[in-house]
Amino acid sequence: PQTWPHSGNTQGGGSGNGATYYGTARDVTERKEAEAFINFQAYHDLLTRLPNRALFKDRLELAITHANRGGQKLAVMFLDLDRFKVINDTLGHAMGDRLLQAVTHRLEKCLRKGDTLSRFGGDEFTLLLPSIHNHEDARQIAKKLIDALRAPFQLGDHEVFVGVSIGIAIFPEAGETMDQLIQNADIAMYHVKGKGKDGYRFYSDSMSIDTANRLNLERDLRQALERDELRVFYQPQVCSTTNRVVGLEALVRWQHPERGLLYPRDFLPLAEETKLIGLLSERVLDQACQDVGRWIREGHTHLRLAVNLSPIQVEHPRFVETLMQQVKAHNFPAGNLEIEITENVIMNDLEQISQKLRELAALGVRIAIDDFGTGYSSLNYLHRLPIHTLKVDQSFVKAIRSGDDGACIVNAIVAMAHGLKLEIVAEGVETDEQLDYLRSLGCHQVQGFFYGPARPAAEISRTLGSTRAKAASF
Ligand code: C2E
Ligand code: CA
Ligand code: CA
Repeated sequence: PQTWPHSGNTQGGGSGNGATYYGTARDVTERKEAEAFINFQAYHDLLTRLPNRALFKDRLELAITHANRGGQKLAVMFLDLDRFKVINDTLGHAMGDRLLQAVTHRLEKCLRKGDTLSRFGGDEFTLLLPSIHNHEDARQIAKKLIDALRAPFQLGDHEVFVGVSIGIAIFPEAGETMDQLIQNADIAMYHVKGKGKDGYRFYSDSMSIDTANRLNLERDLRQALERDELRVFYQPQVCSTTNRVVGLEALVRWQHPERGLLYPRDFLPLAEETKLIGLLSERVLDQACQDVGRWIREGHTHLRLAVNLSPIQVEHPRFVETLMQQVKAHNFPAGNLEIEITENVIMNDLEQISQKLRELAALGVRIAIDDFGTGYSSLNYLHRLPIHTLKVDQSFVKAIRSGDDGACIVNAIVAMAHGLKLEIVAEGVETDEQLDYLRSLGCHQVQGFFYGPARPAAEISRTLGSTRAKAASF
């Protein structure tokens, strides 16, 4: 017979017999195309043309069977774009769609044949790496994905930055079933968000509590807020030359009715995930303003209150307003407040965040960079932003041991802080040796078990009381 045309659109009708054949052929082609389209649609996301959730699960199921048979590993990654919602809300959905397409394009370039990237929903993607040898393989890909989104995206006249938070679950240790792997990758992803985003984490058992426990914990956490079970503990920041308390860092605790005193790592990730973090932070700040405000009025006029802020809070469009309203409601002097944020929070959205920080600084609020030296950062921002304090991360302080090269980093950070005329607080100071070393560098503000852990307000009150006579010279 004759060769049938591929597409009905590209050729006109013929005549005689040919036309009949042609007509039939077109019907068949169109039906086949329609079928193909319906099939495609059932298993793909039309915007990005990526496999959808259903197809991803199919492929994962298959990959697990294979891996099981061959005793191999595989990796599931959960990717959530940082700041997508803000861009979508401000530039509109059409731009949001274009951004998702552009992001997809860049992510796909990092993958090998056989990997499955899927759009899981909204700004969430999942990735299956069906054959990896070890964690390192997955780590390499995660880094590549993060790097791929680093450069700005051009959307019409707008240049926007998106980051990505990646949680990784490795089969079989992080889960043996499809649902476990996806859920655990999701949990690991929330740990990245909690730490300032734009990074990756491997799932580990300590991150979580199984699903049942998780639901209980979420319900408990809601109740904790209603029943006022959250406590604020304070860890002194001490000047090592005078041994005086110069500041207090507020650290949240949860007095759980059955499980006892819980630490942030046990419940903060869940609070972030369930958006209870906003409410939680509000409580912490209220309590801290009350306690520290009282000590300030009692004569410790220079006492500084340091509070930790979640990235979710800082990103909120009305962050500055909300924070200041709360501080004013307690008549708390803005100059005694220091907020702690991580480098990642800043780097994620340099433009927006610097605007907010400038507003706060103009109102007298001090800004500290927490865990300094551990994040992804450009030192470039340091002198362009109104930053007052660098908090040297505990890991660098730990490295201070006689003859250990690790101490070099502390030297460098302290030297830099001095050069930039920033204050510096060393965290996690536990030993005499560390204290002496820091002193010798000229780093005099320290915080750590050497001077004591975070303690309840009543105990802090007693410590402060005994130094009240000298309070004026704090
Ligand atoms: P962070 O801001 O880096 O706080 C320091 C952590 O190190 C605290 O743990 C503190 O108890 C602990 N630490 C202090 N001195 C030493 C020491 O000498 N040695 C050792 N090994 N550890 C020391 P914590 O209280 O469990 O808090 C963990 C993290 O949770 C904090 O890290 C902070 O990022 C977050 N966090 C705590 N409270 C809040 C809060 O109210 N809001 C928000 N958003 N985050 C909070
Ligand atoms: Ca802190
Ligand atoms: Ca810290």
